[in-house]
Amino acid sequence: MKTYLLSALMLGLLATAAVQAQPKLSGVDHAAADTSVRAQDDFFLHVNGRWLAQTDIPADKSSWGSFEKLDDDTKPQLRALIEAAANDSSKQAGSDAQRIGDFYASYMDEARLEQLGLAPLQPELDRVAALRDKAQLPALFAHYHRLGVTAPFGFLIHQDNKDSTRYVADIAQDGLSLPDRDYYLKKSDRKMADTLAKYQQHVSRMLALAGSTQPEAEAHAIVALETALAKLQWDKVALRDPVKAYNKLPLAQLNKLAPAFDWTTWLTDTGIGGKVDYVIVSQPSFIKGVNGLLQTTPLATWQAYFRWQVIHAHAAYLSQPFARENFAFYGTVLSDVQEQQPRWKRAVNATDGALGESLGKLYVEQYFPAERKARMEALVQNLLAAFKQSINTLDWMGPATKQQAQDKLSKFMVKIGYPDKWRDYSALTVKADDLVGNVQRSHAFEYAKEVNKLGKPIDRAEWGMTPQTVNAYYNPELNEIVFPAVILQPPFFNAEADDAVNYGAIGAVIGHEISHGFDDQGAQYDGDGNLRDWWTAADHKNFAARSKMLVKQYSAFSPLPGYRVNGALTLGENIADNSGAAIAYKAYQLSLQGRPGPVIDGLTGDQRFYMGFAQVWRSKTREAQQIVYLKADPHAPDRFRANGTLRNQAGFYNAFEVKPGDKMYLAPKERVNMW
Ligand SMILES: [Zn+2]
Repeated sequence: MKTYLLSALMLGLLATAAVQAQPKLSGVDHAAADTSVRAQDDFFLHVNGRWLAQTDIPADKSSWGSFEKLDDDTKPQLRALIEAAANDSSKQAGSDAQRIGDFYASYMDEARLEQLGLAPLQPELDRVAALRDKAQLPALFAHYHRLGVTAPFGFLIHQDNKDSTRYVADIAQDGLSLPDRDYYLKKSDRKMADTLAKYQQHVSRMLALAGSTQPEAEAHAIVALETALAKLQWDKVALRDPVKAYNKLPLAQLNKLAPAFDWTTWLTDTGIGGKVDYVIVSQPSFIKGVNGLLQTTPLATWQAYFRWQVIHAHAAYLSQPFARENFAFYGTVLSDVQEQQPRWKRAVNATDGALGESLGKLYVEQYFPAERKARMEALVQNLLAAFKQSINTLDWMGPATKQQAQDKLSKFMVKIGYPDKWRDYSALTVKADDLVGNVQRSHAFEYAKEVNKLGKPIDRAEWGMTPQTVNAYYNPELNEIVFPAVILQPPFFNAEADDAVNYGAIGAVIGHEISHGFDDQGAQYDGDGNLRDWWTAADHKNFAARSKMLVKQYSAFSPLPGYRVNGALTLGENIADNSGAAIAYKAYQLSLQGRPGPVIDGLTGDQRFYMGFAQVWRSKTREAQQIVYLKADPHAPDRFRANGTLRNQAGFYNAFEVKPGDKMYLAPKERVNMW
């Protein structure tokens, strides 16, 4: 143990010890436990079994657990902030308070939405109806990128993965209205085939509501077109490969890739042209395929497709018949949700979606005390120090790669709570009587922000989540870990509790995000955010062998009869879970400085650490939603995020005396330790 490491640890933890003189709580939720299940057989159930047995998923939710509950608990707080802004009599037109209050008001004014009916969409429906020639499609694509309406492909602005000093436009596959291509293509899966049939009926009903005279025929053609797009799409495992997705193309060569599409018009109308001389095409084979579809698909089908996409993108903001039918499919059929959320919650979500940092600024002023940020900063430093130490002790990695890994770790950027500089929304006009207009202007505002990045230096202060988002992330391009304010609360972070449970919960979350910098994707980027192979051939091989073992472990998990976890799709998250827990445990041990942790509630520090970890993952998910997750979510189901991780952790075996014959037991040579 090195001195600089100790001092970093002491700074954080002694400071908190001084504040709290009275004995600390364990932070373990004993009421949730099912002690009839042995910890050694199913730790997730042991810790959460009674909670699982006694908790019903709320009727308006598709899943329910630590993340969803904290998110739901935050909603009334956001509502109070919004209402205070709305009632602020001193507010001026064009102020944050005016925008927040009026956006919310426009969502809550149901009478006005009923009175307007389809009218707010008429200009867009007319635009589609007015098309006379397929040559006009590129301009239409560009128009809908700006409004957030789905087109067969889209683009995003981000850092050039091989030149981290500049932004680039990245053209990527899109075009579907179901969560994954499998919903269109897996005819052998009865649930998916049934969902697709119901989707077609839904499209037909929506078109009928919008006045189509032949909704069934149109819906049939739309599903056929989306199915053709699905066939062209790369699957979600292929999408995880950043090297395959890096296809740099001078603008002039786009015509060669897809000659049936007028790129000159598209580049001009999107605003990309003139700002860059090359783009990235993430899936060239997809764009080539779309070129073929442009030639073979009649204009009338493209018109039906875009009419549907326009209605679909706005359905939640229209009158009841549209909103209800939208929920009946996307809520009930797709996710098993029986009831819509109360209108005020939907209004809070929409306001949050459009004005997230305005609302976030109010949120942190009221709900994020400065000392929580300070304690979190210390914790993150402890985790980084533990990771640094861990790299040096890895037995499977050679010194050259270790040095590169240390270099990357030393360049990590940490963001906690909220941005240093808040976004300026003054260019966004919000009106109390124009919900659809507000949503469209918000999309255009976000779009302009993105496209305006082209040609400018990288904004390293930008946040990809708002402070009130219950989540955290690692961004390989900026090589940064980011922890929004709201997650720094129980059960993730309990200021009243002893350290053990916090290291197991928020500590493992921090470790998880750091580990993303070194998962099978993150490890392909260097500390400056460039895709650069910094591995020796031998270490590549060792890493790949360990990855393969994890893929095999998780692919064996089955959350539903007939379905298995996709070990390849979830590999990056599983590496992050496993390494995150290992690093958090190491950081906890370092914090004890050689002394045993206190026994609280009859539990050792190590036991509480793992209980804190498993508490975070308590959750229940409806069956249809579980299928969506299995197809589209890179995370394993929560039960396996707990148990699948712990059976690889040496510390867990010691803490609970797990032995051969126990169901959690894996022989040492089958356990995977990556970082
Ligand atoms: Zn993750």
